Amino acid sequence: MSANTNESASVGYEAWTDALRSGSVLGVSCADCGATYGTPVAVCHDCGSRDLEPVDLPTEGTLHSVTRINVAPVGFEGPYYVGIVQLGDARITARIERDGADTAPEIETPVVLSGVIEEDENGLPAPVFTVETD
Ligand SMILES: [Zn+2]
Repeated sequence: MSANTNESASVGYEAWTDALRSGSVLGVSCADCGATYGTPVAVCHDCGSRDLEPVDLPTEGTLHSVTRINVAPVGFEGPYYVGIVQLGDARITARIERDGADTAPEIETPVVLSGVIEEDENGLPAPVFTVETD
């Protein structure tokens, strides 16, 4: 993977990953239609606008969906969970961690940002969210 130097992107993967490392989630918001994304996009998926602004997203959200990966790719230990986390108006794909549980966390479960994987199974950085237990 080479550095993303796409000038048209308001938020690049590098800035996005740096934000994750420092414990925040950098999203982008469309100035034209208001759509919000949890990962860098160069073009608004809703209206096609390139007028996108960086926006800070909350680091706590809820699980929108979750999938158990039973057979992990080479170099990864399975099983683990991958889910889509709802953060405010945005959704973000993330690794979901849970303390010592074999059962999948339930939808709508509160999760909190706990770290970043430098390279996930697609070779891209990915946020890690941990299920909040009480
Ligand atoms: Zn838009």
